[in-house]
Amino acid sequence: MAKLTSRSEDYSKWYNELVVKADLAENSGVRGCMVIKPYGYAIWEKMRDEMDKRFKETGHVNAYFPLFVPKSLFEAEEKNAEGFAKECAVVTHYRLKTDPNNPHKLIVDPDAKLEEELIVRPTSEAIIWNTYKNWIQSYRDLPILINQWANVVRWEMRTRLFLRTAEFLWQEGHTAHATKDEALEEAEKMNNVYADFAEKFMAMPVIKGVKTPSERFAGADDTYCIEALMQDGKALQAGTSHFLGQNFAKAFDVKFTNKEGKIEHAWATSWGTSTRLMGALIMTHSDDFGLVLPPTLAPIQVVIVPIFKGEEQLAQISEVALDIVAKLKAKGISVKFDDDTHNKPGWKFAEYELKGVPVRIALGPKDLENKSVEIARRDNLTKELRSIEGVDTYIEELLQTIQKDLYEKAFNFRQDNITKVDTYEEFKKVLEEKGGFIYAHWDGTEEEEEQIKDETKATIRCIPLDDDVEEGISLVTGKPSKRRVLFAKAY
Ligand code: AMP
Repeated sequence: MAKLTSRSEDYSKWYNELVVKADLAENSGVRGCMVIKPYGYAIWEKMRDEMDKRFKETGHVNAYFPLFVPKSLFEAEEKNAEGFAKECAVVTHYRLKTDPNNPHKLIVDPDAKLEEELIVRPTSEAIIWNTYKNWIQSYRDLPILINQWANVVRWEMRTRLFLRTAEFLWQEGHTAHATKDEALEEAEKMNNVYADFAEKFMAMPVIKGVKTPSERFAGADDTYCIEALMQDGKALQAGTSHFLGQNFAKAFDVKFTNKEGKIEHAWATSWGTSTRLMGALIMTHSDDFGLVLPPTLAPIQVVIVPIFKGEEQLAQISEVALDIVAKLKAKGISVKFDDDTHNKPGWKFAEYELKGVPVRIALGPKDLENKSVEIARRDNLTKELRSIEGVDTYIEELLQTIQKDLYEKAFNFRQDNITKVDTYEEFKKVLEEKGGFIYAHWDGTEEEEEQIKDETKATIRCIPLDDDVEEGISLVTGKPSKRRVLFAKAY
């Protein structure tokens, strides 16, 4: 098996190779669209199931809306339409026919032109708010707390596996409320749900914040977000939650009678995370040997590799191994006993390292004699000998330790890569030499934000939602600033 390109050699090449070699996904015959392979999909399913559980715990239910959005509906909320117009796939015809000049070819049938074009959803506010119009009449119909698991299409020009694809899988929450405060609370609550999921489940520390007006979702009054830092010092937007005000209710005429008998427009939120989280997971933890997965997301948490010569030895080892398998399974730990006789143990070790299996147990004839096993951790590549007795309890605790250690490692890396700067010179120097998040003052205008972006490619990732409100002087214009914001080059 050829080794991966190292991260220090070429980070981007390392990422692309890892995604393919670890069998997570591959490019497809369709421009910008990926095939998610079973191993990658198994990880996504775990993310999805956990998020779904958390959405339900916070009172949401799932539903499904159409893939196509008639153009007239798409146009209704002008800002949203304008924001997404440049990346829409549009269906104009509904039939093909045989080419009169070549019976082996098909052409679009000009007689089958749609009266109204259909947009393949880049996001579903339009179709959903057009539906909510029929569902909302009174304050008693509110709130509506719906989530949809679906695919969307955004015609991205520069695509990368998981991080930015033309079609991606995601979830989109769409809620309707009777009051502004309730909608605001919902938008912030779901951003917190994302942050908690990222930190507890993905072992990925995030910074919670709000976007500047120019980075907001098209059609939102405010966009909350979670931002993570990747190992190459670039930021990644891991999830967004939007307070949509009454914009969609006004565009789709969604009114209700409030408790006082007055007619009002409903208040809205929407929130989404996508298969981009797979990219975030990979780039947060993995190393030059391959994938590193937090135990919570690993499709196989423990692998047992027998070291043997001949069938008799394998039979003896299997007996002990299968006993360990049964005990681990009883504790709800997913375990694989790899007794395949074609591949050598060394090959298996490399394979499971590449796939990010958190714990490897090696079991040979010497171990049987000594009643011991060799336990290897994928995250820090350490090995130790342990007694077979009580190994299941030990591994149960070890998986929790690994989960905690991965978070701490990523957290320390993130903290070490937040640099406070006070001058533009320093800003450029840090960006060039170190990267990471730069915590600096901004005058609050789009002009300064734009200038910094043009000159350095760094954007304001978010205005953090913490209470660090130290005043200062902005980087470029020297105007007063109310607080520091987070800049970074981003994916
Ligand atoms: P948005 O609806 O634009 O707020 O996006 C919701 C989520 O989808 C965010 O977490 C984005 O980071 C993610 N996302 C946006 N565009 C893409 C894309 N082309 N590929 C994968 N994920 C995306």
